Amino acid sequence: MAHQWRGIIAEYAERLPAHVTERIVTLGEGGTPLVEAPALSARTGAQVFVKVEGMNPTGSFKDRGMTTAISAAAGRGAQAVVCASTGNTSASAAAYAVRAGMTCAVLVPDGKIAMGKLSQAIAHGARLLQVDGNFDDCLVAARKLADSYPVELVNSVNPDRIEGQKTGAFEIVDALGDAPDIHALPVGNAGNITAYWKGFREYAGQGAPGHAGEDLPAVATRVPQMWGFQAAGAAPIVAGHPITEPETIATAIRIGNPASWELAESARDDSGGVIEAVTDEQILAAHRVLSSEVGVFVEPASAAGVAGILSRAERGLVPAGARIVVTVTGHGLKDPQWALRTLDGSEVTPTRVSADVVSIADALGLD
Ligand SMILES: *Cc1c(COP(=O)(O)O)cnc(C)c1O
Repeated sequence: MAHQWRGIIAEYAERLPAHVTERIVTLGEGGTPLVEAPALSARTGAQVFVKVEGMNPTGSFKDRGMTTAISAAAGRGAQAVVCASTGNTSASAAAYAVRAGMTCAVLVPDGKIAMGKLSQAIAHGARLLQVDGNFDDCLVAARKLADSYPVELVNSVNPDRIEGQKTGAFEIVDALGDAPDIHALPVGNAGNITAYWKGFREYAGQGAPGHAGEDLPAVATRVPQMWGFQAAGAAPIVAGHPITEPETIATAIRIGNPASWELAESARDDSGGVIEAVTDEQILAAHRVLSSEVGVFVEPASAAGVAGILSRAERGLVPAGARIVVTVTGHGLKDPQWALRTLDGSEVTPTRVSADVVSIADALGLD
């Protein structure tokens, strides 16, 4: 196994807090591809790459934070973990809990959990409870449960989650040789924008005093602007107040009161970046560009960052030639129904042909 990627804790141990390295619980997360996207470069006049986080073991970036959170919990001898989830956190927590031999409890909001994610949590044996309320209600309940009972919270308010997720920034710099000019991503509970900003800062030698790896040399000479994008029906940071009934087809970012709200604003302001809203139509159009022109299939929420750079390009707000990395956060198979509709909403079904070469060639327009 000399050449196999070892998971983010083994790969970046010196830049992570020592307590996550004592009992490592890993499924080989991280080491995801950074793919150049000429179709997006052509549309924006920039040089665009996508960081394909759907290639993680459970199909989303959540695995980076889950290996650290579950390893830390295992190191403390925890027997059970709990999370509130729009889907991907539960899929990830359930898989890593299996690996650690722990019980995993999952609180999912009423309605609208993508089938792929639900099936993962169930397959991995999580104790799944659908709560009469939205994601924000689930998170409040999960926090209280962890406060009063012997179970550890593994949502992104758990600082070990942020530590693991910051390694996505390290990988981008390692692949490009320095930080990009701009890093774009979707924003839901705002843990990931917080984590990436922390990672970029630490790699540029700008980490807060006392952070892990402080004594190591800087790898990057600079930090990128952080561009975050919320769904228009769930854009509390853009609106400046919580949204009581967030609505969007991008279920992974259907969050009305982000736990890391202030940290996301700091990432935006300290980096000279932006946090903007994109509509569901823009998200679905970007989803389509990614699948049909870039070759990368993502779940709708993951397309918000691409929708954001396309929208800013239309407004002339993408600097010519800028190097941009867009983190696409989760796999398309998590929530595949969106690929099976045309933009006007009708179902896409295969053309039926008889099993002879002539009719097949005919249907393909070959002659
Ligand atoms: C969790 C998640 C997000 C949102 O990330 P936050 O850290 O909550 O801002 C975006 N996309 C996908 C696919 C996710 O699973």
